[in-house]
Amino acid sequence: MIPFIIVGNLIAPVWIAPLFNKFEPMRDKALETRILSMADRAGIEGSRVFEVNKSVDTKTLNAYVAGIFNTRRIVLWDTIIKRMSPPELMFVMGHEMAHYVLGHVWYLVAFSSLLIMASLYAAYRASGAVLARWGTRFGFTTLADIASLPLILLLVSVFSLIVTPLSLAFTRHIEHEADRFGLEITQASHSAGTAFVKLQEDALANPRPGLLYKLWRESHPPLGERIDFVNAYHPWRDGQPLVYGDRFKK
Ligand SMILES: [Zn+2]
Repeated sequence: MIPFIIVGNLIAPVWIAPLFNKFEPMRDKALETRILSMADRAGIEGSRVFEVNKSVDTKTLNAYVAGIFNTRRIVLWDTIIKRMSPPELMFVMGHEMAHYVLGHVWYLVAFSSLLIMASLYAAYRASGAVLARWGTRFGFTTLADIASLPLILLLVSVFSLIVTPLSLAFTRHIEHEADRFGLEITQASHSAGTAFVKLQEDALANPRPGLLYKLWRESHPPLGERIDFVNAYHPWRDGQPLVYGDRFKK
């Protein structure tokens, strides 16, 4: 599972995604220049910007920064370029650049690997107790028996249900910090807010879901909370230090 996570997070955006869509240079050269100069400020030098013709497949909005070393790239789906104003796009790019420069992908790979190992181990330990109690009724006494597959699937589902809130709390934290970085580098509070409104309209998401939904389903902070945050967080206006200020090149 760990190699699959690595392939999914690190390799797919660079080598698999371009098999399905056209990755072309950005058409709006003025916007490209703004994005590249922000990338420089964020500490991502020598990157390329791609525009992807995703509108043939979906109306979903997306943008990301991926790759390592000379495969480094900033990717924008044409859907988001069309739907968002340049200041909104700049905030989204600031958020995506944060994931890249703060090494979030690596944290995510490490954290998910840890949780997978922990839940598989828990399933293994629990299976011992289950087999000792009901093994004769099941007709198998070891997990090495292929007949145990349904039991393994059941136990893995139970433990992944238990660890899901942990892994989502972790990704929500990462996303929140990326919002903070995006705000600090653009200082575009209002555009960040309207960008979230567009994401909300686009995804038909519930901006303020209940607690259970948030804990078990939300990989990002709910959009209502993200909008509250961009309204409340403006240290540059209050003369407070920025959390990520020392990372920005002047
Ligand atoms: Zn993000």
